[in-house]
Amino acid sequence: MMEKNKNPNSKEFEEDINISEEEQAYIKRMLQKLIKLGMAVVYGDEDNNEKEVVFDHGGRKSICKAICCSFNFALTKDEVEKGIIKWNTEWPYFISKEKDGYCSHLNRETLECEIWENRPQRCRKYDCRKDSKVWVDWEKKIINEEVFKHLPKKG
Ligand code: SF4
Repeated sequence: MMEKNKNPNSKEFEEDINISEEEQAYIKRMLQKLIKLGMAVVYGDEDNNEKEVVFDHGGRKSICKAICCSFNFALTKDEVEKGIIKWNTEWPYFISKEKDGYCSHLNRETLECEIWENRPQRCRKYDCRKDSKVWVDWEKKIINEEVFKHLPKKG
């Protein structure tokens, strides 16, 4: 079984290897093929210096609809080994998603994380307030509508 520490979809992955964009795209495609064939897995590679972020969303969940819980990311080896967080069996070891495009651990009614105490490092460190893909203006509560476009169509 081949292991790769960096998420092939991450910016760091692209920056770490000094090859053309075309070659990078080819490698990503090949890696995704290997994952599909069960010959490779991807673990998340978290930066230990990155701090955990907890903030009051101030009622913004009715606007953002917890869209960050639909993003794709790989779990660390430790998280996989603990066996609490579900991972995608077709794309090991990315977070498990349901047909609606959201994480398997998100409570669809309350939009709260059902494994909050054991949530992944990526969820602990992600700060949507600084992410222009999510908020055009956090203070003014203006969402970037583009952020919902990757969700599967309902119905
Ligand atoms: S583990 Fe919890 S916080 Fe992380 S994406 Fe899933 S529902 Fe959201």
